[in-house]
Amino acid sequence: MEELTAWALTQPPSTFLTPHTLYRYLEAHRGDLAACKAALLQTLAWRASNLQHAGFTCKPCAARPGEHCFIPLGFDATGAALIYGCPARASGSSVEETVAHAAHALEKSFAGEDGDPAPRQWVWVVDFTGFGITHALQARLGLAFGYLFREHFPERLKKIILLNPPMLFRGLLAALSAIADERTVAKLTPLVAATPAGVVEALKEHHSVHSEEARAWLLEVLCAPPVPGTLPPLPPCAAALQV
Ligand SMILES: [Zn+2]
Repeated sequence: MEELTAWALTQPPSTFLTPHTLYRYLEAHRGDLAACKAALLQTLAWRASNLQHAGFTCKPCAARPGEHCFIPLGFDATGAALIYGCPARASGSSVEETVAHAAHALEKSFAGEDGDPAPRQWVWVVDFTGFGITHALQARLGLAFGYLFREHFPERLKKIILLNPPMLFRGLLAALSAIADERTVAKLTPLVAATPAGVVEALKEHHSVHSEEARAWLLEVLCAPPVPGTLPPLPPCAAALQV
């Protein structure tokens, strides 16, 4: 860590290169200093050309609500950022635009009070309502998300809660488990409950989702038809985090 910190000081000033960032990259690369520096430089270049740090608005979502479904909902009781996603509630077909939306939404949830990246993880709540074969075939998006989270947000993802995953997805998961690294696969946590109220209760009991307003919103969403552009207004805890 000392050597990496000394190296970071030789780089152009950047609010990104915090001790926590260095630690995450070191952890992701199992202490391999050369790999860690290369990955940091790659992310710095990616951030410079892909992230707008202030005032980003997702233009496709502004023009057509429901284009993307990657919705920050505030934080769980451990301080991790909660993000709700539902493939059937997103109409956008551009992988690049979807990834840009997700990257900026994560960045906003990770911003500390001073605007610098906070030492925080995130939890992805994936709703499988309406999940069908067209969603199962979105391999390019899946790979792009995997690349984004692994290369540019390493050690940020705490877990992915899979709400009532259908058999179709379980088949995909078995295939994924054979090729993905086991640390990622271990973060996949199915949550099976008979009713939307049961799902929301389990999120509170087993996944530290203590925010009543986030749970009330989720309950309303889980009862709504799984089509794009029909989400209820977001609770105050989430409104400022959208892109
Ligand atoms: Zn969007």
